[in-house]
Amino acid sequence: MRRTALALALAPLAAATALGQPTPRPTTTLPLAVTTALEGDAPVVDDAWIDAQLEQANLLFAPHGVAFVVVERHTMPERHARLENRRDRHLLGHRLHRQRVDAFFVRSLRDVDEPDRMRQGVHWRPRGEGYDPRAHYVIVSSIAGPTVLAHELGHYFGNGHSDVPGNVMSYERGDRPPFFDAAQGARIRGSLRRFLERGELVAADGVSPGPAR
Ligand SMILES: [Zn+2]
Repeated sequence: MRRTALALALAPLAAATALGQPTPRPTTTLPLAVTTALEGDAPVVDDAWIDAQLEQANLLFAPHGVAFVVVERHTMPERHARLENRRDRHLLGHRLHRQRVDAFFVRSLRDVDEPDRMRQGVHWRPRGEGYDPRAHYVIVSSIAGPTVLAHELGHYFGNGHSDVPGNVMSYERGDRPPFFDAAQGARIRGSLRRFLERGELVAADGVSPGPAR
């Protein structure tokens, strides 16, 4: 017996509904601008390392209707490789790309509140003269675990920290794969809507999301 293309296309949706799982949402793919610090001539992390972080982020955001695709890759000078203080973080605010989610990759990122600690990543808003008050971006250190880009993008989309072990926004690992819960997913979609309405971001047209490459 032959099934029509439409029936095939709807089959996964029907299966998910029958199992009582959330209905798959339409996905909005957002353009990511990646900027990596250099040490000498070499980037502090390679493209494969960044792509692995991105793959985790796409897996975690997929159930909530957001995907990311790298549309630009840049490098920045060695003076931005080791971020020691707030000013070092602010300075990346001069390297932003219009209507992109900007992600910066550095060698190290010192905690600005507890200078004995190094951080794996941060979501940052530059403050001071010459910075757009709406500007924000994520910074990921070369010591980051696999879901740090996803965690910082979780902040980018308005989420705070979670106490639930295993949640992407928790510092504690759980015994199941990391996840954003339903409330966080709603916050992600609310932020997405605002970013698009204000023109701060635009969807990346004609690019497949590929969350599960
Ligand atoms: Zn955090």
